[in-house]
Amino acid sequence: MKTGLSKETLVLHTGNEIDQQFGALSMPIYQVSTFLQDVHGNTKGYEYSRSGNPTRDALEKAFAVLEHGKRGLAFGSGLAAISAVFMCFSSGDHFIVSNVVYGGTFRLLTKILNRMGMTVSFVDTSDLGAVEAAVTPQTKAVFVETPTNPMMAVSDIRAIAAICRKGGFRLVVDNTFMTPYWQNPLLLGADIVVHSATKYLGGHSDVLAGLVVTATEELGEEVHFSQKAMGGVLGPQDSWLLMRGFKTLAVRMEQHERNANVLAQWLGTQPGIEKVFYPGLASHPQHRLAKEQAGGFGGMISFELVTPELAEHFLSRLKLISLAISLGGVESLICLPAKTTHASFPPELLRSLGINDRLVRFSVGIENVAELQEDIEQAMANQ
Ligand SMILES: *Cc1c(COP(=O)(O)O)cnc(C)c1O
Repeated sequence: MKTGLSKETLVLHTGNEIDQQFGALSMPIYQVSTFLQDVHGNTKGYEYSRSGNPTRDALEKAFAVLEHGKRGLAFGSGLAAISAVFMCFSSGDHFIVSNVVYGGTFRLLTKILNRMGMTVSFVDTSDLGAVEAAVTPQTKAVFVETPTNPMMAVSDIRAIAAICRKGGFRLVVDNTFMTPYWQNPLLLGADIVVHSATKYLGGHSDVLAGLVVTATEELGEEVHFSQKAMGGVLGPQDSWLLMRGFKTLAVRMEQHERNANVLAQWLGTQPGIEKVFYPGLASHPQHRLAKEQAGGFGGMISFELVTPELAEHFLSRLKLISLAISLGGVESLICLPAKTTHASFPPELLRSLGINDRLVRFSVGIENVAELQEDIEQAMANQ
């Protein structure tokens, strides 16, 4: 592969996209569970699709290139990917985790991994002092989501990576909201990147998948062992769909961001809307950091309406923007995190984090932005 390609070109040309046998420009789907061996047990590189499949392999290699890492691994969902990473650790290990993480990650840590004897401190990772203060002799990893879902707080990946290096533990970054198109945590010093590829990477709300990329081969081997041992792999059809999604990642991310910038500014001027959370706004508390560590601000906006009644009214009247959980698809999606994605958080915790029943999370799609504004205007009217 040529080095030094721009990110727009790289999403199309990661190096292994052309089939070696017939020159097919799209990687064939190897819909197969097992592979022929000769009498000595020799194979042509694959033996059984849980440990390796050519289509999944092509996806894993392509994604490792996009995230600037050494090893990529594909899973059946984002949570399967996150679980496989945490299962590389042991009973007694302690993690420091962003206090506003994806609800499923919170549930995994507090309802499953706690039973395995792993402990966790949830801290505001946008506060470096809080991260340092949470370190214990048992700390083995810091897990950061930045920007956070749904409060859009930004954590300093480079500075947290330095804390991790000093303490001898690992930094894992959930890069779902930004994608490697806007943010490259491994280049900022993280050890492992995880993704719900269900979101922007697939991009069309039609595939559930997770991806991991590691900074080193050794870490890649550890996560691969966990993937093979626990078995949460991605199937060949879905691997192919994800690779198709990558090809338009650049144009989609640019348009998501253009629309989100316009809407974030505009929403702040609308009656009935109290606060807008978007790292691209100059008023965002970590706006400068967001600009420094990422190439863009992404397509996710949260905003708070003046009353819960208005929030209900607004959500029920939208016509173009779909009321649905998930995010990152080409079509605009909207939801109320307190009642959906973050319903697994205890109510008092939700309140303390600012996730109230007036807070709406908006995954801005790639539609015509004026038509999105019209839809929002008509849904806010006639209360
Ligand atoms: C959706 C999501 C996940 C979980 O991914 P699934 O593909 O739904 O399992 C993890 N982290 C973030 C930030 C997400 O948005």
